[in-house]
Amino acid sequence: MKKYAMPILMLAVFETVAVTLWLTKHDIFYLFNFSYIGCSIALGMFLFIRKNRYARRVVQLLVGLYMLVYLGLISRENMQIEGFWYYLFKGAFVAATIHYAVAKIVGPLLFGRGWCGYACWTAMVLDFLPFKTPAGPRKKLGWIRYVTFALSLIFVAALFLAGVGEEPLERIMFWAFIIGNALYYIAGIVLAFVFRDNRAFCKYICPVTVFLKPMSYFALMRVKCDKSKCVSCGKCRRVCPMDVDVTDNSRKRENGTECILCMECVRNCPKNAL
Ligand code: SF4
Ligand code: SF4
Ligand code: SF4
Repeated sequence: MKKYAMPILMLAVFETVAVTLWLTKHDIFYLFNFSYIGCSIALGMFLFIRKNRYARRVVQLLVGLYMLVYLGLISRENMQIEGFWYYLFKGAFVAATIHYAVAKIVGPLLFGRGWCGYACWTAMVLDFLPFKTPAGPRKKLGWIRYVTFALSLIFVAALFLAGVGEEPLERIMFWAFIIGNALYYIAGIVLAFVFRDNRAFCKYICPVTVFLKPMSYFALMRVKCDKSKCVSCGKCRRVCPMDVDVTDNSRKRENGTECILCMECVRNCPKNAL
């Protein structure tokens, strides 16, 4: 049972959040939402411990589809970064603001970019493409993320400054969610084929990384290398979708804030050094 301590602990953390929010906000949605996500993550961890090769993909599909289809399309909450700005300006404590606070701003201090490896509905589709490991060296295009980040903020701020009424604003944000997602998928798929790299969109375009990268620099959960076992074969680097130099244990490791905790390096290390 000891080896299943982590999934049990993760489930307990999510259940604590679920029950606390349910009782304090008097809304059963929180109980359902966080219980579902906690169960999905715990199931993925359980499968990972059992060495199931689809463990990460199972969580990615369970959580990603739930957020995209149930929260985004059925409940009509804009779960993209524009939605975060929108609900923040409105001062509303809803799924999108909680989601950003937990998964993308505070959470990364604990689990780094686990969101990107296990829950993101954009990467959920991109990870089906054939370029699992990047074909070439990383491009110097990371600056684009700051442009998309600024555009998302300007878009929502402009709607508020223009004094758009509440009802049309809700409609605009819903359609912004649909169109924004479609654009993300198109850009992500095109870039993946151009650069022969499934995660090119994550590396160069995604505005959310402006939050994720600095927070995950301090992440508690990190892959570490046991130098006494490592034979410097370089396999971990070759299988990494995010070009992380995982053999360097320092926080300044190359592309360290890009690690999505996919565990491909751990799985492929011939010496069990990770
Ligand atoms: S970088 Fe952006 S698109 Fe990629 S997995 Fe993370 S949140 Fe999703
Ligand atoms: S795969 Fe393992 S042994 Fe090879 S360089 Fe990486 S950590 Fe070292
Ligand atoms: S292969 Fe290892 S270093 Fe690279 S993203 Fe996955 S867990 Fe992180």
